[in-house]
Amino acid sequence: ELEDIRGAGTWKSERVIASRQGPHLRLAGGGAGIINFCANNYLGLSSHPEVIRAAVEALEKFGAGLSSVRFICGTQSIHKDLEEKIARFHQREDAILYASCFDANAGIFEALLTPEDAVLSDELNHASIIDGIRLCKANKYRYKHMDMQDLEAKLKEAQKHRLRLVATDGAFSMDGDIAPLREICQLAQKYDALVFIDECHATGFLGPSGRGTDELLGVMDKVTIINSTLGKALGGAAGGYTTGPKPLIDLLRQRSRPYLFSNSLPPAVVGCASKALDLLMESNAIAQSMAAKTQRFRSKMAAAGFTISGKDHPICPVMLGDARLASVMAEDMLNRGIYVIGFSYPVVPKGKARIRVQISAVHSDEDIDRCVEAFTEVGRKHGAL
Ligand code: PLP
Repeated sequence: ELEDIRGAGTWKSERVIASRQGPHLRLAGGGAGIINFCANNYLGLSSHPEVIRAAVEALEKFGAGLSSVRFICGTQSIHKDLEEKIARFHQREDAILYASCFDANAGIFEALLTPEDAVLSDELNHASIIDGIRLCKANKYRYKHMDMQDLEAKLKEAQKHRLRLVATDGAFSMDGDIAPLREICQLAQKYDALVFIDECHATGFLGPSGRGTDELLGVMDKVTIINSTLGKALGGAAGGYTTGPKPLIDLLRQRSRPYLFSNSLPPAVVGCASKALDLLMESNAIAQSMAAKTQRFRSKMAAAGFTISGKDHPICPVMLGDARLASVMAEDMLNRGIYVIGFSYPVVPKGKARIRVQISAVHSDEDIDRCVEAFTEVGRKHGAL
């Protein structure tokens, strides 16, 4: 089986980092000063001094961990405080913490939906949503990626069920495209459905005050349930959550299996996320800085002749088409000190191979310019330009 994976060219190897996460890395056994363009560290908070200090303080005061699930002996004041802060950040009634957003997605559908209900899911939703839906007994409908006609057709078909839930990523991580939430919410209203969004690639930086896709598209009061991660823009340590109406959160605390049967978030992790949210609620300067750098990268790359998928999102997929080209170009970029990753089938559709660049608020303008220059050189060398 392992040989088959290698033979298929889908073997995933891991590069070992010998420094903190940040815009500049040292790779184990390699040189320092690698510019990193492939973390989800959108706001650069993973190594922010105040975030690290908050983690150390939480560790000192509350210990290494709880050795317990939440409902037995694992709820500390910091867990309740963080849940309250998350709900306030998203302007929702309540929130519940999980060890990861993968767990939040694994736990929600089964707890909420019965065989009498229906879930309608975008075909390109994240693997954790797909797995969460697999675990539930509701009737399953998969609509074409961001295709509102198809969603409407499926909603019509699903009228026979007790309850309908439309599930979509807010921002899709492979393409950097943003779900048409306004239209989704209109259809949901028309066909009496609830809307669920996964905001892992939106929380903290999309929308005027970084609340996410629902704020960006003006539908904060129309989206019922948000799942998101603490492991990307919000400090990058780990953890996930669901936020929404209080009765729903109450139900998850009673029924959601990854919550009931897995250890509480460690205090240091809670400390990181809590400080990250404080920083974002004080000012949106960090998010604005990231948006400006994203704009700089996207416009310079387009001027150089590259096609960048998506719009205004810090996920900037440089579309190349050919899988081998994406892989050799990414390797050559690393030789020039720029760390980027090529993605090809089966992670993305055949013929749509790309190098995904992710911009962070802590990249300097010079970092961005060096990345564009390296792409231009490598692109010319391999005939991509
Ligand atoms: N949902 C989306 C859209 C993601 O990109 C990810 C992470 O890759 C997850 C969920 C899972 O998040 P976590 O790392 O907190 O488990």
